[in-house]
Amino acid sequence: MNKRNEIRNIAIIAHVDHGKTTLVDCILKQTGTQRESQQVTTRVMDSNPQERERGITIFAKNASYTYNNHKVNIVDTPGHADFGGEVERILKMADGALLLVDAFEGPMPQTKFVLRRALEAGLKILVVINKIDRPNSRPMTVLDEVLDLFIQLGATEEQLEFPYIFASAKNGYCVLDPKDEPKDITPLLDMILATVPPPDADIDAPFQMLVNSLDYSDYLGKIAIGRIFKGKVKPSDQVIAVAQNQEPKKYKVGKVFLFDRLGKTEATEASAGDIVALTGLEHVLIGHTITSLETPIALEPIEITEPTISMRFSVN
Ligand code: GDP
Repeated sequence: MNKRNEIRNIAIIAHVDHGKTTLVDCILKQTGTQRESQQVTTRVMDSNPQERERGITIFAKNASYTYNNHKVNIVDTPGHADFGGEVERILKMADGALLLVDAFEGPMPQTKFVLRRALEAGLKILVVINKIDRPNSRPMTVLDEVLDLFIQLGATEEQLEFPYIFASAKNGYCVLDPKDEPKDITPLLDMILATVPPPDADIDAPFQMLVNSLDYSDYLGKIAIGRIFKGKVKPSDQVIAVAQNQEPKKYKVGKVFLFDRLGKTEATEASAGDIVALTGLEHVLIGHTITSLETPIALEPIEITEPTISMRFSVN
């Protein structure tokens, strides 16, 4: 099996308010994409009064950045236990996860919930102890508490050897030791490339992708988002949507999008390891497998559901 060495797919997981949005903004800023980030964030927030009121992140927002000739896709994961099933599906798109923990509060209930799911999904976990600038922060103690949580959740020996870093997302820096001189978030960007495995990529196999989330656009209709497990896909390709106990359905792919910063760009082709958004699959649901005509086999016997929330992001 080949690897796509130039790609990393990571999830970002945390208890609410521990700093996911701030860290992603900070990553996009340092990798040169701040302007787009602000525009889109404002639009997303504007479009959803519920999110604004609750002051929490309820959307699975995707982002990507380029660093040292690598493309890193970031999938945001809802931290709420009541989003049953969604977290697992979203984590399936990633090979690694950034677990953010507030250096003052320490691990909280949603930290445990999302960490459990990420460990079950077998992701490489990088621990980010955030908000070390807070006056009463206790980074080393919180790191110990995180280790205890890993043990409590039955992490394997290998999972216990997690890489960790200390951060002040708000002030735009990460350090390997809280006593280090803060500069920027380069240590985190390097750590992601060094420790998260690149995706497996059987590019020559027949096309296979699992639909992990859905989006809608007035202009493009339904948009199926997922990671390509095998093969390649191009606009206008003939595909089949399959699911357990359902009639397979044939479709013609409309457009193929790759994630680009906080938006998307149209692609002429995407292949195994990429996280893509496909249009033209009108009746597709989360949990469906999209395949080439020759191998209509469902990838996962997961429950098919309509999304509990609608997800929006702009399509360039
Ligand atoms: P999310 O819910 O995980 O997306 O959290 P946010 O990124 O929205 O952050 C929640 C709050 O914590 C905001 O008021 C941020 O400004 C603040 N915050 C985020 N990172 C830091 C940090 O490194 N230091 C401090 N002091 N505050 C932070």
